[in-house]
Amino acid sequence: MGSHWSVDLRHYLLPEGKPARLSPRGRRLFEYWTEIVSQATQYEAPTTLLCRRRPGRRPCGTLLIIFFDIDTYDVLWFCPRCHDEGRIAGWENTFWDNSALEPENAS
Ligand SMILES: [Zn+2]
Repeated sequence: MGSHWSVDLRHYLLPEGKPARLSPRGRRLFEYWTEIVSQATQYEAPTTLLCRRRPGRRPCGTLLIIFFDIDTYDVLWFCPRCHDEGRIAGWENTFWDNSALEPENAS
């Protein structure tokens, strides 16, 4: 069974944009979400992020599907194997938002 996460990155950030103090588990999740945002906003680069879940205590390790909600621009992800899925709002203009960067080797 998959889980559904719905998070807003701004809830985990201090006013200056640094991550707030989190529990070790919270920290791991936060790093996962920010990596999803980072990959989602590198439009030219293929996704390389693997599912972090361990159904039945075995790493799922499946390539995630990452895309945008066309209405809200939330980042959405899901795992086609274990159906872990989630939504990330509030990522714009955070440290992990790469969308303002021009691809350096665009042809
Ligand atoms: Zn999975």
